[in-house]
Amino acid sequence: MHAMVLRRLKTPLEWMELPDRQPAPGQIRVKISACGVCRTDLHVVDGELAEPRVPIVPGHEIVGRIDALGTGVEGLAIGARVGVPWLGQTCGVCRYCRMERENLCDSPLFTGYTRDGGYATAAIADARFAFPLGERGSDVSLAPLLCAGLIGWRSLVMTGEAERLGLYGFGAAAHILAQVARWQGRSVFAFTRRGDTAGQSFALSLGASWAGSSDDEPPEPLDAAIIFAPLGELVPRALRAVRKGGRVVCAGIHMTDIPTLPYRWLWEEREIRSVANLTRQDGIDFLGLAAQIGIETRTTSYPLEQANEALADLKAGRFEGAAVLVP
Ligand SMILES: [Zn+2]
Ligand SMILES: [Zn+2]
Repeated sequence: MHAMVLRRLKTPLEWMELPDRQPAPGQIRVKISACGVCRTDLHVVDGELAEPRVPIVPGHEIVGRIDALGTGVEGLAIGARVGVPWLGQTCGVCRYCRMERENLCDSPLFTGYTRDGGYATAAIADARFAFPLGERGSDVSLAPLLCAGLIGWRSLVMTGEAERLGLYGFGAAAHILAQVARWQGRSVFAFTRRGDTAGQSFALSLGASWAGSSDDEPPEPLDAAIIFAPLGELVPRALRAVRKGGRVVCAGIHMTDIPTLPYRWLWEEREIRSVANLTRQDGIDFLGLAAQIGIETRTTSYPLEQANEALADLKAGRFEGAAVLVP
């Protein structure tokens, strides 16, 4: 197998040939046909997460077909198309696993972060954490659903019944979520980097009622906001944009520091909360809904060997939607 490997933090990924791996009991081996590029991958490469591990193969939006089965795998067959997400494994016994909050497991493995991921021609995964994808939709179009869609979905659920929904950072996750939110009958207000008129037009084309810069005030108070951009300064801005009792959901795994803010901006029962990881139930709920809605993802494909270029383009905001690596 081949992979783009992070050998040292803050250095470019390296194209390497690795020995083929065999699935252990309960595992599958997936021949990868597409792997989405997530902002979290940038945080992994830049060493911004709490448990940096190298060498590592990044990538946690894997789409491919099973080409080897470990013993004891049930319900999955050779040749089946599956998605492998960020949540790679949980312990099943800690208090969070027992509370049906496996996203907060005390001893998890995360694909492309603490276990090798999908910037490769093949990956090993725990069969219980892979999602059957069926045959509808192309491999490339489905890849961004595995994290941008899934974490976005969990964030959207956290906003409850919010009708007027603000999305800060209109990238891979928001362009999927805007479609879900519109389908649910919510109004979407899209906030982009200042001067990003292309991003604002993109948001409007997906049904946003309004699009503007992240330092603009929305035309009416929001019921809730989700922050996808990794900028702590957006937290006070979003708090000022939500109504009394409104909620601000921070969807990313890493953010720059949140500036101090006057208590009165939080006052009147406004809330700030973060979203961490996903549960398997989130995946089942969201992937079923995505197929029903007919979510269309906007993707830019890169050959696997150009993973560094894809990451650089993501950092610079040089494409709409999501980047996807194709081996
Ligand atoms: Zn656990
Ligand atoms: Zn991700």
